[in-house]
Amino acid sequence: MNNPLRYSPEAIRELCQTHPLLDELIALNPVSWFNPERQPAEQALAMVGLTAEDVQDASLRLTRFAAYFKVAFPETAVSQGYLDSPIKAIPQMQQALESRYQQSLPGELWLKMDNLLPISGSIKARGGIYEVLQHAEKLALKAGLLQRSDNYAQFNSEPFRQLFSQYRIAVGSTGNLGLSIGIIGAKLGFQTSVHMSADAQPWKKDLLRAQGVEVIEYESDYSAAVAQGRLEASEDAHCHFVDDENSVQLFLGYAVAAERLKVQFEQAGITIDRANPLFVYLPCGVGGGPGGVAFGLKLIFGDAVHCIFAEPTHSPCMLLGVYSGLHDHVSVQDLGINNITTADGLAVGRSSGFVARLMSPMLDGFYTLSDEEMLTLLGLLAEQENIHLEPSALAGMPGPWRVVQDEGYLQRLGLTPERLAKAHHLVWATGGGMVPKAVMDNYLAQAAKLT
Ligand SMILES: *Cc1c(COP(=O)(O)O)cnc(C)c1O
Repeated sequence: MNNPLRYSPEAIRELCQTHPLLDELIALNPVSWFNPERQPAEQALAMVGLTAEDVQDASLRLTRFAAYFKVAFPETAVSQGYLDSPIKAIPQMQQALESRYQQSLPGELWLKMDNLLPISGSIKARGGIYEVLQHAEKLALKAGLLQRSDNYAQFNSEPFRQLFSQYRIAVGSTGNLGLSIGIIGAKLGFQTSVHMSADAQPWKKDLLRAQGVEVIEYESDYSAAVAQGRLEASEDAHCHFVDDENSVQLFLGYAVAAERLKVQFEQAGITIDRANPLFVYLPCGVGGGPGGVAFGLKLIFGDAVHCIFAEPTHSPCMLLGVYSGLHDHVSVQDLGINNITTADGLAVGRSSGFVARLMSPMLDGFYTLSDEEMLTLLGLLAEQENIHLEPSALAGMPGPWRVVQDEGYLQRLGLTPERLAKAHHLVWATGGGMVPKAVMDNYLAQAAKLT
């Protein structure tokens, strides 16, 4: 079982005495919390137990696999077999938000468009696919089919599919991780099982089944789907379980994003340093994706980067875990919060303990926003910039305004008006590339109703 600990209502009441923000979380009010435990990058990184070499190793592995992607997924040929996404300034959206939040934003608003990542159209194409590749490489090396210096295009051949067909890959998911792992797993020839939580969208299940992936559906939420998947996998020696709550491999796959981002900023002629700070706003579910990206960013940009996580008011598991210091020992359900949100990628009631511990010293802040806000922003971005994202991917959008409205935080970190004027605010658009048109039209209709 994932974590049998349950906080009683009395224990929660006591916790609220020392942690007054919890009352706001319970009331489902949008909150911002800037982290007093934040440490300089060097200290925060020293606690991770992973290094720049580990990220480099992951990056080199992805480079070896570029030859495979070019042949197995021809849509990656334009990016030479790399799985990456562009960055883009969104000045019209910035203006629209300045008037929505009635405050002008010093600096520039940018979007990291992981919705355009090849293969699965979400940030999960980074970590999820990476972990499957790492596993496949290990099996192929062990079977004597491969040397590291070989051309990895041969992963797209019958002997490799034959080998992998003797193995199973399993994962528990709210949808997008299952999509990424199901698609790459099936393509390589693995038997693949995806344990889907109740909130997973029907179209994601249909798409996976069409690829020959076994989809197991649950009535319950994400944590239960993961726990059941983990249990079944543990009984099968030939099954590799991608453990979204604990996986170092996933984390490293996500972390690779940062080195590419550095190059993209350089190519755009943008300097990032202490005088020209970078703020990055990351939607957070269980924490592996945004946590891995934040780790990578800190390695590359150090104290010049400020990372902030965004969560739905109905699923604030990471804010709860870090703010209370209880990490994965507490769930939003313990607070009577239902973990039901239209942002299905973020519908997680209990954070990854592994990630929560690492984020305590690393992150500048956390905030929550309502489903209505995410949907409204979805409509606004479509209208202003003609960019279509899934609701989860909008969570980062209000972040810059939360930052500039918190005087105490700005002072504490020495974020003077001069530095803020030179800031870049990067909203991580974590998904939406595969949303069917009918589903997107429905989101847009809901957004239209709200405005
Ligand atoms: C999974 C996901 C996230 C968050 O990633 P975690 O690793 O669960 O924290 C954010 N946005 C989208 C669209 C996702 O699918």
